[in-house]
Amino acid sequence: MSQDSQAAPKVGFVSLGCPKALVDSEQILTQLRAEGYETAKSYDGADLVIVNTCGFIDAAVQESLDAIGEALTENGKVIVTGCLGAKKDADGKDIIQNVHPKVLEVTGPHALGEVMAAVHKHLPKPHDPFLDLVPAAGVKLTPKHFAYLKISEGCNHRCSFCIIPSMRGDLVSRPVAEVMLEAENLFKAGVKELLVISQDTSAYGVDVKFRTGFWNGKPLRTHMTQLSAALGELAAQYGAWVRLHYVYPYPHVDDVIPLMAEGRILPYLDVPLQHAHPDVLKRMKRPASGEKNIERIQAWRRMAPDLTIRSTFITGFPGETEAEFEYLLDFLREARIDRLGCFAYSPVEGATANDLPDQVPEEVKEDRRRQVMELQEGISRQRLQAKVGKTIKVLIDSVDASGATARSAADAPEIDGVVYVKLPYEPHRKLKVGEFVDVRVTAADAHDLWAES
Ligand code: SF4
Repeated sequence: MSQDSQAAPKVGFVSLGCPKALVDSEQILTQLRAEGYETAKSYDGADLVIVNTCGFIDAAVQESLDAIGEALTENGKVIVTGCLGAKKDADGKDIIQNVHPKVLEVTGPHALGEVMAAVHKHLPKPHDPFLDLVPAAGVKLTPKHFAYLKISEGCNHRCSFCIIPSMRGDLVSRPVAEVMLEAENLFKAGVKELLVISQDTSAYGVDVKFRTGFWNGKPLRTHMTQLSAALGELAAQYGAWVRLHYVYPYPHVDDVIPLMAEGRILPYLDVPLQHAHPDVLKRMKRPASGEKNIERIQAWRRMAPDLTIRSTFITGFPGETEAEFEYLLDFLREARIDRLGCFAYSPVEGATANDLPDQVPEEVKEDRRRQVMELQEGISRQRLQAKVGKTIKVLIDSVDASGATARSAADAPEIDGVVYVKLPYEPHRKLKVGEFVDVRVTAADAHDLWAES
């Protein structure tokens, strides 16, 4: 190491929140590294600390405020970014400045330029940046074999329970060539699974009227279907997977299902439905709420029989009647969704749903959530049981002396189940992290699979 790099200022980084916030953190860390800053592993080794916050629910706000407090006590020089940075309290004052007035600067989410300007002000840039130290793929916080690819920022919808648009603004799609270049760099750096994320993946390109860009000298539209096909083609050259998240059930989603059936992208659709009853969906102001979701799901499964559907639901949304809840249960019995998350409705400060009449009592919301999870447990158990005896392809996430933990096409990292793989009997056959292996499923419960290679 040269003297210059030893003298490089060190920045500590605390990253909280969802995958979208994680991508923001990665971009900031990449830029810091590009400019010659180093990252510090402890507060006392850092010249300055950046805290990327989450402001979605009350527990996340508290966690973020605590993290800022800790960074101030342990280090003292703190810059805050992320969703909580854009949030005001009931009196219209910035929450962070109010609770922690010693914070040096506060920015909202997706504010790479502002964060870097704050860093330059409080910890001036090193004289001689080591630009070539930046890996082409940028600095990733996820394990090297999978990575999130954010294709747009913000959202044009105004779901009544959500404040993301007020924090992150309207939809801004990244240029399609930039997205493809980032994907290529990630594959070149060894990424074997690319997780496409945004607030609303199906809306990709709406803001730029699906403008035609260019990739590898060929025209490519800024559109979910064309992007999915192009990513699938690119991934095939590297033997990698592409998985789509946050897809709303607009009619054009039907066009990506054939790509899944043909194995060009993973047969996995993360569709956050939130409810089934049309009146509840209307009160939620959900996108594509007029779609006949049962028919859509059945048609998708006919087109791609191996399709895994993940969704999330909310119980006890304001005004949810017993009949509307029963309708949801009937929907779930029929839809037989593979992977399901369910939350009891929790009001978020600033959301318009807070003003809706007939708020549902806490114990009713919770009891309904429990009923959904109980129903889902049985469905999930049956769907996973049907895989026992089959051979499936998995991606190895970790290996230790007792075996390997892997995921199949049906399992997104961190939110779905896993496949526990028994180590091979032959000592020369070692399983490696980031490697694809064909395994035979030997057992299942309601969440995970067990298999041998
Ligand atoms: S689609 Fe709805 S829930 Fe999702 S970010 Fe937009 S407003 Fe929020």
